[in-house]
Amino acid sequence: MRKIFLAVLFVLPVTIVAALYTNEPVETNEDAEFITVQNLVEIPPVPPKDIFGFVLEGVDIFEDRIKRNESLYIILRRYGVSPQQIHLIQQAARGEVNLNRLIPGQKYRVYTSDEEAFAFVWQSSTTQYVSILWDDDIRFERGAIPIERRQVRTAGTISNSLYEAVRAEGASSLLGSELAEIFGWEVNFFALHRGDHFKAIYESLYANGEFIGIGDIIAAEFQHRGRYHRAYFYDNGIRRGYFDGQGNSLQKELLKAPFRYSQRVSSGFSRNRFHPILQQNRPHYGTDYAAPVGTPVISVGDGIVIEAQRRGGNGNIVQIRHNSTYKTAYLHLNGFAPGIRAGVEVTQGQVIGYVGQTGLATGPHLCYRLYVNGRPVNSRTVDLPASDALEEEFLDEYLEYIKTLDAELDNFELMQNLASN
Ligand SMILES: [Zn+2]
Repeated sequence: MRKIFLAVLFVLPVTIVAALYTNEPVETNEDAEFITVQNLVEIPPVPPKDIFGFVLEGVDIFEDRIKRNESLYIILRRYGVSPQQIHLIQQAARGEVNLNRLIPGQKYRVYTSDEEAFAFVWQSSTTQYVSILWDDDIRFERGAIPIERRQVRTAGTISNSLYEAVRAEGASSLLGSELAEIFGWEVNFFALHRGDHFKAIYESLYANGEFIGIGDIIAAEFQHRGRYHRAYFYDNGIRRGYFDGQGNSLQKELLKAPFRYSQRVSSGFSRNRFHPILQQNRPHYGTDYAAPVGTPVISVGDGIVIEAQRRGGNGNIVQIRHNSTYKTAYLHLNGFAPGIRAGVEVTQGQVIGYVGQTGLATGPHLCYRLYVNGRPVNSRTVDLPASDALEEEFLDEYLEYIKTLDAELDNFELMQNLASN
């Protein structure tokens, strides 16, 4: 027994070595090449392929967009594919790919070799494709179009709105909303001044040469009323977000509830709840806090009062816009705190009114509502960005990292000036 075991131990390494040195491929699959010293120098260069994986050598590619009333049949006939072959493709596609979903404007490619079409790639969305290959048999393959990231720089001066400035520079309006979100707590985007300016280093995303969106804003500067604000995107796997030159988060936290002391929730946020007064199911886009009449209600964040008046079933209502993303509303107030009216600025924790029972209310309570980009969300469960500064342990690395970005932002301006001279 022991002898056999030993024998196996000795024999096994020998067979492995033999296998490594033999010229005969031990196992092969279509793509893998068995590399030995003899054939090492003879490996042919990898022929170039297109983004859909087709070898380009000896192949002609025709790219176009699907036009109105065009079907796969019409397109393939134009490239000389026989009606029989198209019929076979359509049969084979059954249950695999819905070839009736070709939409005008979508891109496609037809591949020909010796003037004979052998493959069709249908870009079914900006990032997805289906390829059909026919020779002896018919094969379908779905794939994702590789996304190409290009670093882009854009600078602009505001003469009217941020969006117009961004568009004037030929950038996507998505850049405008990203910048507004990043600098939302630093800059009042509802009171931009002529001459305010921005610079941004960011990624533009492309699929098959087509712009599909913007990726991360890597660094940006916003100059508002002569004050400079800079933001840097940082992600070390533990912390991720936009920070300023000292490592402070650019996001500010909203208070979880509009009270100094915790109050009992009498009715939570619900897309469908039975309304006690209206006697019907209605969404409840807020959180009700049962609190005694006169309890001070505070603003959950810095902002501008956009409404403070009596309005129907809401009773006395205060609405505060915190930045271009967040808005809050406080309903059924007994009254407003001194000085609270539309247009005034408030700070986090400032008393804006008092709990009451005005409007449609069965008892004294505050209905508190939080809106993100105009949509009501549950203030008690919504995931708001972290507002903590970078931890001490990451700070050195961060400050080193942003030096390069600062240099780029500085240099960027020089290039702009040179360009305009
Ligand atoms: Zn309510």
